[in-house]
Amino acid sequence: MSEKGEGMSEQAGTTADDPDNCEHVLERVYQFIDHELDTASSDAIRRHLVACEPCLERFDVEQAVKSLVRNRCGGDQAPSQLRDKVLGQLAAAKVQASQA
Ligand SMILES: [Zn+2]
Repeated sequence: MSEKGEGMSEQAGTTADDPDNCEHVLERVYQFIDHELDTASSDAIRRHLVACEPCLERFDVEQAVKSLVRNRCGGDQAPSQLRDKVLGQLAAAKVQASQA
């Protein structure tokens, strides 16, 4: 009788840059909106966001806008322009995804 100790280390590994990992996507979604990511990365994020409803729900637009504003001008009053931009980005992503 010899049992193999397999199956214990299947989920090992630290994926530093995994576009399929919800946490990572949400971490980088601000950079995505702010166009700080390269094309491949932002494409991966966009695809994940439109395909993953939990992420879309967890992605708080208000929060994202505030964070962007804080980064840029040190205030926390989010101009409606920026908010529209964020919403527009998501809407555009959805359209693109449904056309693909
Ligand atoms: Zn997700």
